[in-house]
Amino acid sequence: MFITFEGIDGVGKSTQLELLQSWLEESGREVVRTLEPGGTDLGQEIRHLLLHRKGDVSPRAEALLYAADRAHHVATRIRPALEAGKVVLSDRYFDSSVAYQGAARDLDVQEVLNISLWAVGNLVPDLTVLLDLDAEAAIARRSKTGVEPDRLEREKVDFFERARNQFLDLAAQPRFLVVDANLSVDAIQDLIRKRVAAMGLS
Ligand code: C5P
Repeated sequence: MFITFEGIDGVGKSTQLELLQSWLEESGREVVRTLEPGGTDLGQEIRHLLLHRKGDVSPRAEALLYAADRAHHVATRIRPALEAGKVVLSDRYFDSSVAYQGAARDLDVQEVLNISLWAVGNLVPDLTVLLDLDAEAAIARRSKTGVEPDRLEREKVDFFERARNQFLDLAAQPRFLVVDANLSVDAIQDLIRKRVAAMGLS
């Protein structure tokens, strides 16, 4: 079972992922918790390039770096874990590229989806949890925790709003569960667990 968590920065994905991991492990499941970018050693190097390199990376180069991270991540961690019968929980997957590299940075959304699907050999999640929050609220949360202030300077509300709207478009697919990230941590987790239980995992 492959479950991904998506949403703009600051919506609380990692908290929910951690709670779901504990619940699944308590019920005896083997869980691999991972993230993008940076779910492998090579991916950590790519993450560093993407997030900390001085100077801009051109949009297509950026999209390909994310795709390279993801290709290696799927080949060396995600697929082997799924084949071993484990549950894989990933903090972001290719929907993030469609939303960020596609809609927010203005590349063609379908082209970004195509390179992403090629990179992962068409591995689509069984469930994608989208934590939805408007961009202003998400930025306010991030500012409170002091996360990446330099990126906050550059990437303002409209960037995250474009990403959010793209996530919501993607969420028309049946594999998505959309949850209002304004709800309490416990209420959000409850909705996620109900959906996961309905899929036969609990
Ligand atoms: O989710 P996480 O905080 O680890 O992501 C690190 C940064 O990379 C975030 O600012 C996120 O917006 C960005 N990112 C991106 N495109 C992706 C995935 C993440 O711009 N496909």
